[in-house]
Amino acid sequence: MILLNPGPVNLTERVRAALTLPDLCHREREFGELQNEIRARLLQVYPLPPERWAPVLVSGSGTAAVEAMLASLVPREGRLLVVDNGVYGARLADIAACHGIAHAVARQAWGTPVDLEALTRHLDAQPGFTHVALVQHETTTGRLNDVAAVGRLCRSRNAALLVDAVSSFGAEALDFDDGSLAACAASANKCLHGAPGVSFVIVRRAALPEKSAGRSVYLDLARHHRAQDAGDTAFTPAVPVFYALREALRELADQGGWHVRHQRYRGLATAVEDGLVGFGVEPLLRDGERSVVLRAYHLPAGLDYAALHDGLKQRGFVIYAGQGKLAASIFRVSTMGAIDAADMQRFLDAVAGLLGTARHSGAQAR
Ligand SMILES: *Cc1c(COP(=O)(O)O)cnc(C)c1O
Repeated sequence: MILLNPGPVNLTERVRAALTLPDLCHREREFGELQNEIRARLLQVYPLPPERWAPVLVSGSGTAAVEAMLASLVPREGRLLVVDNGVYGARLADIAACHGIAHAVARQAWGTPVDLEALTRHLDAQPGFTHVALVQHETTTGRLNDVAAVGRLCRSRNAALLVDAVSSFGAEALDFDDGSLAACAASANKCLHGAPGVSFVIVRRAALPEKSAGRSVYLDLARHHRAQDAGDTAFTPAVPVFYALREALRELADQGGWHVRHQRYRGLATAVEDGLVGFGVEPLLRDGERSVVLRAYHLPAGLDYAALHDGLKQRGFVIYAGQGKLAASIFRVSTMGAIDAADMQRFLDAVAGLLGTARHSGAQAR
């Protein structure tokens, strides 16, 4: 089955084989070495100096890292402004609410670009904000939010920026030199091509609190960070998934790093889009505002999502539905994982077959 959903992704044989490496006790030296290599390689992706940045691993899905980031880095007396222009922005606000973090939400219609003027108004209102949380790639629509512009605003207002980069880390540009960026959260099973079960936060060491905000035991970044810097782990980690992540990071480096992955995704995304547009299927967003990781398309007339999904699944492809209000109007195609141009061509052939069938049966119905 070819997975065109935004993670978990199809694994390469090399990464899959790593899942069955020998059983390992997480209190033994070998686990420390495995974890050290993963942490070093995570910093090499962009690349970042270990004196200034700490990668902190958390066993759990991407949301675990995002939740750990917000719950641990916004202090008790802090105030968080959340930018919400999609499902994952809304989740940031949910997390803030659950942990009792003082916050406001800059809520926008899903799919629209970040409204910098509205953000400025929020930031200038009193009391001020110590932190801003933003999703880099809003997987809801495939929109790439302008992290640099929000970063500039944060710098001018002395707020620290916390980024959900779960579906962009490893494939889109991230400017860690932007002084406002305090941390970003991501996971193994999206653009890094690992297996699901481990996520991480890359945090500026200077932004790590001396004292934990005390909102969570399992999702306390300071606790994980202290253990991991000492070569240890706070809790039982998802060992096989660690093995797979190490191999996926080795593979990413062997293939030439994130720039090469970006180009590879771009080629696949362009091929899919050109093909679909040729069938009269229109993309939701224009160039310059969307990622190479995932693109959203309007459902073709006369074919609902269930019919498109089920027809494609029969032919070996899993696509992804729209979420929320977009569920009835769009479908999404991701380019992550061990898939290639030939898979995408077969995918387009499958769509063409379905559209032919759909149009045909539509004609019969009339
Ligand atoms: C996938 C994703 C997440 C995390 O989802 P999980 O199901 O917890 O892995 C968070 N943010 C974004 C933008 C995502 O695409």
